[in-house]
Amino acid sequence: MTSTVVGPVLEARLRTILDELGPYPHARVELARVSERPTPATPTAPDPARPADAPPDQRKKGRLLKVSCPACGYPARVTRVWLTKVGPPICPCNSQPMVITDQSPVAKAFKEESEPT
Ligand SMILES: [Zn+2]
Repeated sequence: MTSTVVGPVLEARLRTILDELGPYPHARVELARVSERPTPATPTAPDPARPADAPPDQRKKGRLLKVSCPACGYPARVTRVWLTKVGPPICPCNSQPMVITDQSPVAKAFKEESEPT
C-alpha cells in the first residue's frame, strides 16, 4: 500500500475542524512536485556581474585564507580584511603569529602584495 484514502468518519471530523478554523490566513499555497519547480540557474551560467576575465574558481574557494602555526601546524582560517587590519591569529602553543599556508591564487596574490619590498 502506497497511499491511503480518507474514510467517511475522518472526513466528517476534518470538515468540523476546517469549519472551526475558518479560511487559511494566507495566500493559496501551491505545492508543486520537485520536477515541476523551476530549476535554479546552473552554476556554469555566466554571471553578468562578474568580469569575463575573472578566474573561474576564485569565488568557489571562499573568502577565508588558511593560516597555520609554523611550530605546531595549528590551522585556522581568516579573511584578508582581518589579516590586513589586525594581523594573523596568534597560536596558543607559543603566542607567535601564524603564517599564510593557503596555496590558492588569491592567497598568493595577497602574500605578494602584503610583503614589504
Ligand atoms: Zn602553534
